[in-house]
Amino acid sequence: MSVQLPLAPGSAIGILGGGQLGRMLALAAARLGFDVVVLERQADSPAGRTAAKLIVADYKDEAALADLAGLTGLVTYEFENVPASSVDWLAAHGVEVAPGARALAVAQDRFEEKTFLNAHGAPTVAFAPADTPQEAVKAVAKLGAPALMKTRREGYDGKGQRWVEHAPDAAAAFAELGGVPVIVEAAAEFVRELSVIAARGRDGAMAVYPLAENHHEHGILRRSIAPARASQATAEQAERIAARVLSGLDYVGVIGIELFEMADGRLLVNEIAPRVHNTGHWTQDGCEVDQFEQHIRAIAGWPLGPTKPIAQVEMLNLLGEEADAWVRFAAEPETRIHLYGKHGARPGRKMGHLNRVRPL
Ligand code: AMP
Repeated sequence: MSVQLPLAPGSAIGILGGGQLGRMLALAAARLGFDVVVLERQADSPAGRTAAKLIVADYKDEAALADLAGLTGLVTYEFENVPASSVDWLAAHGVEVAPGARALAVAQDRFEEKTFLNAHGAPTVAFAPADTPQEAVKAVAKLGAPALMKTRREGYDGKGQRWVEHAPDAAAAFAELGGVPVIVEAAAEFVRELSVIAARGRDGAMAVYPLAENHHEHGILRRSIAPARASQATAEQAERIAARVLSGLDYVGVIGIELFEMADGRLLVNEIAPRVHNTGHWTQDGCEVDQFEQHIRAIAGWPLGPTKPIAQVEMLNLLGEEADAWVRFAAEPETRIHLYGKHGARPGRKMGHLNRVRPL
């Protein structure tokens, strides 16, 4: 189906992926009058339960992609590891996919990502690619130990990473990561981890949310505090970085940009996520228009909404069995509860989140 923008309420929007981000996008889309079609491998998924239609299939299944293309001319995705070939297939069959293939290609490969960022004036730590154990040893020797080795593709929540304490250990770390192409990063001696969520519309208009301060445990986001306490200069630096990344990718939609704040006040980009982001969940109860509605507005060609904060928020991820305490959370007047409808509370699995709100 071809798409007419701005997309009118009553139209359908496709989402590749059925996780919690897809679920919250589907809820926001429904509020704006759209029907969501989810394509997802699992028959039971957080987004599948909130979608108007569900197609259960592998993302590469062309019959399923054809079904999706028959139902909607506008498709987005909720995780960055959707196969590029599926996005190409949809685009070749007249479906508008946003964010586009370029954003996906850059975000899927950590080496391409950092190369793109530096080329567009968004600073990162020093880095080097390595395809062999010997190259890995050389890269650590050049960048200095300790250094962080990451697989170029498919890492998330701290998976696919190893610290290397001495250059010769890089060969073993390379093998432990599966012998796949990696990137070696200099250690960032950051004082804080921040993130900026931003959006770009079809007309090139941009909207940037206030910074969030993020705390991780075992590589998984535990807590965000937003708006983060930050100087005007820091906020402006983040806005500049967001603007460069968004225009450099000719981006449409919401993007999450993870930042390291250095002791001298400089911001380095850790990574970009071409989608709504866990560190932006606070916007649901802390901003005039949240990141989920903003993403739907952007891809549908609607005007972007205001990003002004209306509350101070502490966002807490509910991991594994923590979500079982919902009755207690429901009794807290300052707490807004967001649960994902997942079955099976494996340790560390994101089951939901809380936004604890206070007046600004
Ligand atoms: P990532 O999967 O790249 O988001 O990394 C997960 C976490 O590892 C980040 O949130 C940081 O806490 C830490 N980290 C990643 N890259 C570096 C680096 N180059 N130096 C120091 N810490 C890092």
